Amino acid sequence: MPSLCNYYVTLRCNQRCTFCNIPHTNNGSPSREPRMDQVRANLRDLRRLGVLILDVTGGEPLLYRHIVEMLTLAKKMRFITSVTTNGMLYPKYAEQLVGKIDALLFSIDSTDREEHDRIRATKSFHLALEALAVARKLRQPLYISHVVTNESYDHVDEMIRFAKDQGAILYLNPCFSFFGNEGLDPEKAKGLVKYFGVPSVIVDRAQLALITSGGNHTADPVCRAVSSTVVISPENQLWLPCYHFKHEAIPIENNLYEIYKHSDVVAQHREKEGRHPFCEGCTVYCYMRNSLAWRYPGESVLMFGHYLRERVRQRIRNAIAPPQPTLLPSAPDRRRGASPGGSSPGASSGPAAATVAAPQAADRKRLPIVTA
Ligand code: SF4
Ligand code: SF4
Repeated sequence: MPSLCNYYVTLRCNQRCTFCNIPHTNNGSPSREPRMDQVRANLRDLRRLGVLILDVTGGEPLLYRHIVEMLTLAKKMRFITSVTTNGMLYPKYAEQLVGKIDALLFSIDSTDREEHDRIRATKSFHLALEALAVARKLRQPLYISHVVTNESYDHVDEMIRFAKDQGAILYLNPCFSFFGNEGLDPEKAKGLVKYFGVPSVIVDRAQLALITSGGNHTADPVCRAVSSTVVISPENQLWLPCYHFKHEAIPIENNLYEIYKHSDVVAQHREKEGRHPFCEGCTVYCYMRNSLAWRYPGESVLMFGHYLRERVRQRIRNAIAPPQPTLLPSAPDRRRGASPGGSSPGASSGPAAATVAAPQAADRKRLPIVTA
């Protein structure tokens, strides 16, 4: 029975990260994004299939025109919802999204403004910090998602201190390879084990074990992509076996339950999950995360326990003494209209403006780090 749906609502993105090929290869356009009647039918069928967790993803999910309506419906239907965003558009939707997202993750690649902007090919560091400030003001459970690459590995400690200062739980995501890009070196993955159990830091030891053992092996696969996860594309197709190595696309046409449950194509892909030639060495976490519990049950239980503990700690901390970050964005180049389509992400008006303090010294590149 699948427990997770990775629902790709758009393949458009307002950034161009070096470790991602989505905006380059998929010809995303609003006309290829789901209508609400399609979303409604799919959410209904996902519930029937037993799916509990709805990860609304992309592309940049906040570019999807029905994002608020979709998440409102998902919460009414009692899904556990998660959204990872680069934050550029978050201030625009923040108030409407309160209470609709159980895990809201902001992607930040470096504490160095220029380095973050170089990796994302967009001047966006100050916008990410504004987004964090808005979410903090609205008392949202706050996460920073940090992709650990071979270059950023040496700066993980800085990122931990930065996240603590922001009042966020830090997710360390080892970079995986899927389009010829370089994944995190297994030796470095081993080095991340020391962060397991550190307060306000989440790292999946099962994921690290998978990377250090060479990833998925077709002769004895860890991956259960099809059994554990339903993948829906922006053009309303069921993708198999996974997004990153899509092999088959079945039009859903209001029939997700029947297709997933009874079609021969899905049954064949279930048989072959993790056994395709392209599955050898795979470490794509988006599908592995639900598969890993079968191979590494101890690590997965410990990770879940640590995650729960950190959430509770964050809630208590926010209730007693909300974080007052000492690191504030320098924004010498902040301007209106930084997002596509001319819509301002709230850089100069709305809730963000009230929460962002005056720029720091313009020539300071790496933000000073305070020890929490
Ligand atoms: S923000 Fe996300 S979808 Fe966009 S380029 Fe970066 S990693 Fe890819
Ligand atoms: S092993 Fe990787 S490529 Fe193969 S189905 Fe799983 S996630 Fe996809």
